[in-house]
Amino acid sequence: MKLYFKPTDHRNPDSEEATLLLIEAVDKWGTEDQLRMAQEEAGELIAAINQYLRQRIPLLDVAEEVADVLIMASQVAEIIDRSSPGLVDSLLGQKLHRLRTRLGNKTEPK
Ligand SMILES: [Mg+2]
Repeated sequence: MKLYFKPTDHRNPDSEEATLLLIEAVDKWGTEDQLRMAQEEAGELIAAINQYLRQRIPLLDVAEEVADVLIMASQVAEIIDRSSPGLVDSLLGQKLHRLRTRLGNKTEPK
């Protein structure tokens, strides 16, 4: 498993500890519960963005839901990785490449 975000707050676990925490969560609560939690958090992010666009909450309030979704998306990636190792990473690479192409290859790595 790899994290798809980088914790930077010194009070929180570093990347390695965070990775182990997310694996532990999947092991403890299981695939179905964590997939349902991912659905719930994705829904909360959708609602928060909607509230922001309707000028009912500040953009900073969307941050909490983004953090929740990043944590749950990493757990979903871990769940997928257990049956299809490397698939999410591969798709992520392909999609980033496509994004680079759409942006005109201005950020092509050396
Ligand atoms: Mg949430």
